Amino acid sequence: MAVKAPNIIVEPPGPKAREILGRDEEFIMQSFTRWYPLVVKRGEGAIVEDVDGNVYIDFNSGIAVLNIGHRHPRVVEAVKSQLEKLVHYSLTDFYYEEAVDAAEALASIAPISGGPRVFFTNSGTESVEAALKVSRGHFKGSRPYIISFIGAFHGRTMGSLSLGASKSIQKKWFHPLVPGIIHVPYPYPYRCPFKVGPEECGDAVIGYVEEWVLGRLVDPEEVSSIIVEPIQGEAGYIVPPEGFLRGLEKLARRHGMLLVADEVQTGFGRTGRWFAVEHWGVKPDLVATAKAIASGLPLGALIGRREVMDLPPGSHATTFGGNPVALAACRATINVIKEEGLVERADRLGREVLKYLEELGDSLEIVGDVRGKGFMIALELVEDPKTKKPAVKSARRVILESFKKGVLVIGGGFSTIRMAPPLNIPEELLWKGVEILADILKEEDKRRA
Ligand code: PLP
Repeated sequence: MAVKAPNIIVEPPGPKAREILGRDEEFIMQSFTRWYPLVVKRGEGAIVEDVDGNVYIDFNSGIAVLNIGHRHPRVVEAVKSQLEKLVHYSLTDFYYEEAVDAAEALASIAPISGGPRVFFTNSGTESVEAALKVSRGHFKGSRPYIISFIGAFHGRTMGSLSLGASKSIQKKWFHPLVPGIIHVPYPYPYRCPFKVGPEECGDAVIGYVEEWVLGRLVDPEEVSSIIVEPIQGEAGYIVPPEGFLRGLEKLARRHGMLLVADEVQTGFGRTGRWFAVEHWGVKPDLVATAKAIASGLPLGALIGRREVMDLPPGSHATTFGGNPVALAACRATINVIKEEGLVERADRLGREVLKYLEELGDSLEIVGDVRGKGFMIALELVEDPKTKKPAVKSARRVILESFKKGVLVIGGGFSTIRMAPPLNIPEELLWKGVEILADILKEEDKRRA
């Protein structure tokens, strides 16, 4: 798409988009959170074109999926070539080399001690479901409890839904959920639930789990695992305080529990490391992945320590998990990230963008917090920096305005703007998008003053 971006030629939604929106409402269940009326037609690299010919800079990456951009030629080639050979033959009942090759490629990057084993799924929620079953199954049912965090998002099927605690609407009407899950506060440095400073927040959470949860509520020997997003995604890219994940790892080891990292959103270079836990030198027992693993083809994987991935034959499987076409895309994606040095690139450029936005944030009352790692960057908007009341309407307006000006971002938490551009976005486009967003934030700040 050799076109200028952004390029808004007709205020969205244009005529073609309006027509499709009408049919969408008629035929598609409306249970989603649509941020704005973007009707996508084409994607290339870090650019998206809508059905009316408007061109946008994509800071969403299809929600942290297109880490190497839309339709990377290497992925397109790998998919085409696999389509010529084999499209499906259930890994549940038979074998194929594509699965072993992809598992080996994943093993080469996974932050797991020893030689890991892989279970392929079709999505993030399924990877988390698998983690739930492996957690309980590994202990043969003797440790039924699982600890997870308030603010966490792990997916929308019953098990992963039960583990999450992001927004109440996600669970309302769907009880009873899976029993045995204990939710504890997450160390949100900007809004520590224990009302202590950002640095003490991680220890406060660990202390609470040790003293109150494991000391009184449940015997540690009945807890199979702790599941954590190393950086909470849906909640608004919340980076925990420095020692938190290490502390959590130690706590899990102390009590013989498994540490499960949900890296569905943070994986595959997104945070400037292959997996976010690497920022803190943590080695989980299980890592749930999906999203960017196959550049847009439906695939996920639970990657775990060999000794832990020991469910017996017949106890877990899925017809489509590990589809050969998706696996071909997965291998191509890993190769591209390695060969193009995209993990390091996201780390380097992400730091520059973060610094720029931190400076901007210092000059604007409306920006309460700027945070992130690599190309997972967020701005939390507040009505007043002292009360920290979430500026919900302002965040909505900034997201919508950004869309109208040709930059695609979405929200997180209550009033956070999330930025997750492809790791290989051309620098010029990256800075153009950042500047457009900065101008919109300045306008919003003036509007409120
Ligand atoms: N876990 C995390 C951290 C996520 O961000 C998501 C989706 O956003 C999921 C799990 C669920 O993934 P999926 O939508 O592919 O089921």
